[in-house]
Amino acid sequence: MTAILEVKYLEVTFRVGPMMRRQDLLGVAGVSFDVNPGETFALVGESGSGKTTLARAVNGLQPISAGSVTFQGQRVDTLSVREMKPLRRDMAMMFQDPVGSLSPRMKVGDLVTEAFRIHRVEADLQSETERLLSLVGLTMDFAERFPHQLSGGQARRVGVARAIALNPKLVIADEPTAGLDVSVQGEVLNLLGELRERLGLAMLIITHNLHVVHHVADRMAVMYLGRFVETGPTEEVFSAPAHPYTAALLSANPEPDPDKAQDRITLPSEVPSLLARPEGCEFHTRCPWAKDKCRKVVPDATAINGRRVACHYPLDEGARPPPKKEPS
Ligand code: SF4
Repeated sequence: MTAILEVKYLEVTFRVGPMMRRQDLLGVAGVSFDVNPGETFALVGESGSGKTTLARAVNGLQPISAGSVTFQGQRVDTLSVREMKPLRRDMAMMFQDPVGSLSPRMKVGDLVTEAFRIHRVEADLQSETERLLSLVGLTMDFAERFPHQLSGGQARRVGVARAIALNPKLVIADEPTAGLDVSVQGEVLNLLGELRERLGLAMLIITHNLHVVHHVADRMAVMYLGRFVETGPTEEVFSAPAHPYTAALLSANPEPDPDKAQDRITLPSEVPSLLARPEGCEFHTRCPWAKDKCRKVVPDATAINGRRVACHYPLDEGARPPPKKEPS
C-alpha cells in the first residue's frame, strides 16, 4: 500500500535566548514514520515531548530544519504558505481547544462551511451545513448558535465537522479529547472512529491520553525529547511495552481489567531541558533500568517483535516491576 503521508528524518530547530547568547534547541530530532490511507497513527508523549511541534511541521505550520514531508506523493515541506493552501483541503487540522479554536462571532452554520469559502468551492451551503451537522450528530438548530452557546463536546463536534467539510484524505487531530469530561471523551472517540470508517479517512492523532490511543489508533509512536523511542502496532505496544518509557507511561494509565493491572513505574526525576540533553540514552536520567552503557552510548532503534525500540536493554514480559535501585 502507498502511504498517504511519509515523514523522513524530520527535524525542527528553534533559536532561543537573548540576542548575544542565542542557542539552537532541537524540538524534533530526526523522526520518520508514515500513515497509510484509512489508518490512524498516534503520536504519544508527555507535554514538551515535541508531538505538537511535529504535527504542526507536517501540516506546514512550522518550518522544518531537516528531513522531508511527503503528502500524497508530493513534497510539501518545500512549499510556501500560499502553495500549501490547496493541499489543506486534503490535509485538515483539528486544533486542541474545542471552543477557543472557533471564532466567537461566527454561527455554527458558517463555521462548518467556512472551508468552502476559504477554498472557493461552490456548493449549496445550506445542504452542506445539514450534511455536516448530521455527520457529527448535531441537529440543524445548532446552525444558528454561537460557540459560547455550545458545551465542550458540542464544540468538539463542530470542530470535527469543520475538519471533514471538504472530504479530506488525512485529518491531523491535536488532543481531540482535551478539556472534555470522560463520558464525552468516549462519544468523541466513537464519532472519530465512525467517520474514519464511513469516509475512509486517515488520521494522525496527537495526544498524551493513552485511552485515546488504545481506542482509535492502529499504530503509535512514543516520543521523548523530540525522538521516537518506540513505534509499532498499538495492541502490541499496549500488551508488552518494550521501552522503559513506554512501560512507565502505560503503568500510569489505570488498567480497567484487574488481571492485567501492573505495578506503577514511578519515574524519579524531571524531564531534562531540551537545551541540556543527557548524553548516551536521553532517558537514562529517569530510567529505572539504566546501566553504565546507557549513560555513554546512544541506543539505535532496532526491530523487536514488529516494533522499533530505541533501548539497549528492551523489556521482556518478565522485566516488570523495575529494580528498586535508584539510577545513579
Ligand atoms: Fe533505559 Fe538504558 Fe534503555 Fe535508555 S537504553 S531506556 S537508559 S535501559
